[in-house]
Amino acid sequence: MTEQTDFDSNDILIDDFDIAPVRLTVDLGALVDNWREMARRSGSANTAAIVKADAYGLGLEDCGTALYEAGARDFFVAVVQEGVTLRTYAPDARIYVLSGIWPGQERLFFDHDLVPVIISEEQLALWMSVTAEHGDHPCALHIDTGFNRLGLPLEEAIAFAEDVSRPASFSPVLVMSHLHSGDSPASPLNRAQLESFQRVAAAFEGIPASLSASAGIFLGPEYHFDLTRPGIAVYGGEAVNGMKALKPVAKAEARIIQIREAPSGSTVSYGATHQLSRNSRLAIVSAGYADGYLRSLSGSGVPIRAGGAPGAFGFIGNTRVPVIGRVTMDLTIFDVTDVPEGEIRAGDYIELFGPNILLDDTARAGGTIGYELLTGLGLRYERRYLYPDD
Ligand SMILES: *Cc1c(COP(=O)(O)O)cnc(C)c1O
Repeated sequence: MTEQTDFDSNDILIDDFDIAPVRLTVDLGALVDNWREMARRSGSANTAAIVKADAYGLGLEDCGTALYEAGARDFFVAVVQEGVTLRTYAPDARIYVLSGIWPGQERLFFDHDLVPVIISEEQLALWMSVTAEHGDHPCALHIDTGFNRLGLPLEEAIAFAEDVSRPASFSPVLVMSHLHSGDSPASPLNRAQLESFQRVAAAFEGIPASLSASAGIFLGPEYHFDLTRPGIAVYGGEAVNGMKALKPVAKAEARIIQIREAPSGSTVSYGATHQLSRNSRLAIVSAGYADGYLRSLSGSGVPIRAGGAPGAFGFIGNTRVPVIGRVTMDLTIFDVTDVPEGEIRAGDYIELFGPNILLDDTARAGGTIGYELLTGLGLRYERRYLYPDD
């Protein structure tokens, strides 16, 4: 039931990206460059692509396709449904499902040729009975080396490797573990996990082994084994504490819907937690915590600011501008008094993070990590992908 309106005769096509309240530009060229850089740093090991959680919030279809076209043939997802979706874009890749298999999902693994990463003794028993009934199908084994999250206990796994009564048809194609402190290169716990995993790799001799995510790749060749699993570094986030990220991939922007003059002495946003100390120009921006621009990024009035540390910054014209007062559900207020008058007007976009305001600097301002900002962007973002050949 569509009615004719005056607007139908309007033949000017408006690009949603140009009028979006919040918008995200994903530079797939940078994504691919970062993946290649992590592959280079992985030496002779193969390098997987980690695309769980909708490719760290940046879009499974576009990021998965770009990484596949760049040559990635091993992919990791968190849950089986992600694997089913990815299969469309990565036809002949090996797709590992990190949370393994749950009763009722057997068919999905066989029909879409997905590899469960077995994470517990219960899953191992399930998988043995599934393959006994339906025939052999590849799986991977996750062995716990100290994380206490996923994985078969170390000694049980080694005993299993050496068990001659293990069915010959049972065929793990990968043994893996995960470092808990790879982002802290000085931690002695990295070497402890490495040594445990070296025992695993020796017990499963002949089966490819994988230990390192982004951070572990920087720990050096001993940590590379046969397959590396870089995620955050590929998406342009910091992998190692204190080490600069590779190329930024995501640029998040929000629209300025109003610019207002506010007198010295007046207050800003809920709770009146910020009082202006000068006559100010404020940009009211259409992004808030519903868009993953976290309330903890507020300039004042939230517990994280109690120590006096500044809140997050945005970027407009050529100027870094601070968030002032509390971030609200759909709106955030920036102090743009220092932006030269001709460089800002209502309708312009302010960068929340991207090439000028680093993802991890914004994350730190909110007491979190780049991973969480990316995966929490929310549903209102209009997305634009820049392809490597653009
Ligand atoms: C998420 C994840 C990765 C990738 O980690 P990054 O820190 O993003 O590089 C690798 N391996 C496992 C098991 C993971 O869960």
